[in-house]
Amino acid sequence: MRFASLGSGSKGNSTLIEVGSTRILLDCGFSVKETEKRLLRLGCEPSSIDGVVVTHEHGDHVNGVGRLSRKYKLPVWLTVGTHHASKDTGFEITNFIDPHDAFSINDIHLQAFPVPHDAREPCQFVFSDGSLRLAVLSDLGRETPHVMENLVSLDGLMLECNYDHDMLMTGEYPYSLKQRVSGGLGHLDNRQSEAILKKLDLSKMQHLIGGHVSEKNNLKEYAQSALYRGADCESEWVSMACQEHGFSWREIS
Ligand SMILES: [Zn+2]
Ligand SMILES: [Zn+2]
Repeated sequence: MRFASLGSGSKGNSTLIEVGSTRILLDCGFSVKETEKRLLRLGCEPSSIDGVVVTHEHGDHVNGVGRLSRKYKLPVWLTVGTHHASKDTGFEITNFIDPHDAFSINDIHLQAFPVPHDAREPCQFVFSDGSLRLAVLSDLGRETPHVMENLVSLDGLMLECNYDHDMLMTGEYPYSLKQRVSGGLGHLDNRQSEAILKKLDLSKMQHLIGGHVSEKNNLKEYAQSALYRGADCESEWVSMACQEHGFSWREIS
């Protein structure tokens, strides 16, 4: 099982997950042209993708999904709420999921779980090949007991570190946006992500990667230190996904 990021941050998110010959995209916030360029960088022909799974309707996650689905005849999986709230829903094939569903796309098993975020029916996912488990967790204002239950026994984790609390509060965002980002339906800050890691059993973890880092309200170094403090590990062991380059393939075995 392996995974890679096409890019991560408020200007666009997309993660590529591969098990055997099955490849799926988690979200696609980039234009089709940009997505093709970033996929080819990872040695992945867009036509080799089996489908797109969508977490929620915010533009940085869905902007490219409709056009990519039509161009490459890709099926799309999403909740009814995300479908209702998305502008472009002319997908090649639409598969509705319940945010508590477990389902499979060829060789990849997915467990959806709902997250508190200011979208219609947002969810995030744990991906598995039947034994190894990878979670991608972003776009949530706070942890919940149910989110934590889904993060057990992980072999890989990409975790949001959206903002540094002091940088957000002293930064240029208007008051209402500061409240939105830091609220219970906003995003995880470095301290919240550190606290989540402290509660998890990381004994099987092979890859810990920080993502969805705000360009205005965070520094990569702050986010990375929060993660290695949370995981109680060496700093080199934690890597960060960036907006422009995401990260290259990470193998979980
Ligand atoms: Zn987002
Ligand atoms: Zn969002």
